[in-house]
Amino acid sequence: MTASTTPRIALVTGGSRGLGRSTALALAAQGSDVILTYQSSEAEAHAVVRQVEALGRRAVALQLDVGDSKRFAAFAEAVKKVLASTWQRERFDHLVNNAGIGLNAPIAETTEEQFDLLSNIHLKGTFFLTQKLLPLIADGGRIVNISTGLARFTFPGYAAYAAMKGGVEVLTRYMAKELGPRGISVNTLAPGAIETDFRGGQVRDDKQVNAHIAGVTALGRVGLPDDIGGAVAALLADGSRWITGQRIEVSGGMML
Ligand code: NAP
Repeated sequence: MTASTTPRIALVTGGSRGLGRSTALALAAQGSDVILTYQSSEAEAHAVVRQVEALGRRAVALQLDVGDSKRFAAFAEAVKKVLASTWQRERFDHLVNNAGIGLNAPIAETTEEQFDLLSNIHLKGTFFLTQKLLPLIADGGRIVNISTGLARFTFPGYAAYAAMKGGVEVLTRYMAKELGPRGISVNTLAPGAIETDFRGGQVRDDKQVNAHIAGVTALGRVGLPDDIGGAVAALLADGSRWITGQRIEVSGGMML
């Protein structure tokens, strides 16, 4: 365990926007330093770094394509370097595998290219990025893999996307088993529909879709990014240390 005077360091993939951004800020508010990644939104990522710094914590933004596993070893080297240069440390504490895209296509029309893209980003990316980062995660650390409510309930057009996230949920249990001896807990956090840029911002901007989701949600509205950032931070807080191998849905009670 890290001494209480030493801040935790969390690595959040896809921290430039949406749920990853909210997670980075919630973790910083909880006293954690942050390494966040972006794929193309460099300016947004640096804005998040400044917001973390305004909360009194340190942050670094690194570029990463979670769909390009060949570059993960180089990314791990970059993480190692910033840990040494910014924190004088060899390890970080918390990994949040969040970065991802959505794609809606009926099974009959899904192309192999679409399937491979989703697989590379969500399933292969989570598997091999975690593998490459394992030597840099402190014993007693935590991993949160972001899934989706769509792995439990169904909406037409999400078969390939949800199948990858279902794979992530199984992978989570195996990670929890294999990393348990190092004291590392691993959980899935599965958001319901949240108002972000995801899938072109449809859940946020399409009034009909938004109203439909609110109507099938026990708490009566669509989720907001901070509903998820706060939940990830809670799962990474000290009081949650005995939770591992679990799927926790954070959806306001969607499709109960
Ligand atoms: P978002 O607002 O579109 O943000 C996506 C984030 O992921 C951005 O930071 C983006 O980086 C990054 N990203 C996308 N593709 C990437 C790639 N190939 N390599 C590295 N980074 C990449 O989406 P979000 O709603 O926050 O979604 C975050 C996660 O939550 C995803 O895994 C998604 O499947 C899951 N989720 C979302 C919802 C929802 O309703 N929003 C519901 C359930 C689950 P750049 O900005 O630099 O491009």
